[in-house]
Amino acid sequence: MTDPISSELSESAGVISRIDPSSVRAAADVLIEAFRRGNQAIFMGNGGSSADAQHIAAEFSGRYLIDRPALPGVCLSNIAPVTAIGNDYSYDLVFKRQIEAFCREGDVAVCYSTSGNSKNVVLAAEEAKARGAKVISFTGDCGRLKEVADVAVVIPTRSTPRVQEGYLCASHIMCGIVESALFGSRAVFVDRDDTLAPNVPYCSDPALFDLYGDVPEAIARLTAAGYKVIVVTNQSGLGRGYFTMGTLDAIHSKMVSQAESAGGRIDGVYFCPHRPDEGCGCRKPRIGMGLRAVRDHGVNPYRSFMVGDSDADMEFGRRLGCSVFRVGGGATFTDAVDFILGARRRRVLLPRVGFCQLINGLPSDVRRLWISQAATRRSFPPEPSKECPRRPSAVLGTGFPFWP
Ligand SMILES: [Zn+2]
Repeated sequence: MTDPISSELSESAGVISRIDPSSVRAAADVLIEAFRRGNQAIFMGNGGSSADAQHIAAEFSGRYLIDRPALPGVCLSNIAPVTAIGNDYSYDLVFKRQIEAFCREGDVAVCYSTSGNSKNVVLAAEEAKARGAKVISFTGDCGRLKEVADVAVVIPTRSTPRVQEGYLCASHIMCGIVESALFGSRAVFVDRDDTLAPNVPYCSDPALFDLYGDVPEAIARLTAAGYKVIVVTNQSGLGRGYFTMGTLDAIHSKMVSQAESAGGRIDGVYFCPHRPDEGCGCRKPRIGMGLRAVRDHGVNPYRSFMVGDSDADMEFGRRLGCSVFRVGGGATFTDAVDFILGARRRRVLLPRVGFCQLINGLPSDVRRLWISQAATRRSFPPEPSKECPRRPSAVLGTGFPFWP
């Protein structure tokens, strides 16, 4: 006689193994697209499914498997609105009315219903679609919700506990796909003037622009190690009318082709064209350029670096969540690359912030020694300074603004 526990475990595993993988992939793709656009995912369900909805929303606003910036996953199960709407209107409207409040075109409503017929969830799904949002449903093999949904993840059984186990498993897999698509790459963000190339103030002639001689080789090493190289540069000379977009394009084309001369690659060039007094969100130390690059290149800033020569560069890197390295005073971009690659090879626990401040100001030969020693230590520095906590979330308080 079969042990009833083993029998139920096999039954659950059997149901889970029959979930259509393409539906989970399609659900993940919908979320990836929405998050890339800056939209949010809104989760809902009743009872145990409400807890599942909260759980999965938290995998996005918190994290699933990797340390990365927060994603906007919210859940509609807060007790005050649910009871207020239930009391003043009808329990059938507790999610629909919150969808009216929060859901915008391009958002995604993620709906959990074991039966697929929870009236309040179906009404909310219909409202979300009417507002131009996409709907993902997680249900058993029954009910109306999957007909309303753009992507239906169907757990192929009508057994309530098996359905709920199935959609938790499918949802977790979906989280992993989204996370690695949006944050799978490492990058080195790098300033242009005085970091990659000598600074020619408001350079308006491509002939006057050249990378430092050792830079193409250093970029090639980053490319070979799998890093994306992304230039982020303030170019207020454009806003001041000192040169044209055509000139800037020509300078950047020259920069990119010089970088390629040693076999490396600059994967992206982002510039802020605004004057400081315009108050834009892209002039460093603000992080608009970084957030766009993160989105465009699927970069995890928490596993990336910022290299530059100024306070603004360092603040930009810290706010984005990167480890930072300051050049100048004898330390060059090549030193930064030595540090980045040496640290990675030896699996050092890197400080996200603060390293540059510690070594800044030392003579260059001492600095090089510190760099090489740091790269061989297990953990460095042992205590982060107050103004440079290791975790970006601590710097930013309540969370990480994914999009401006
Ligand atoms: Zn700007």
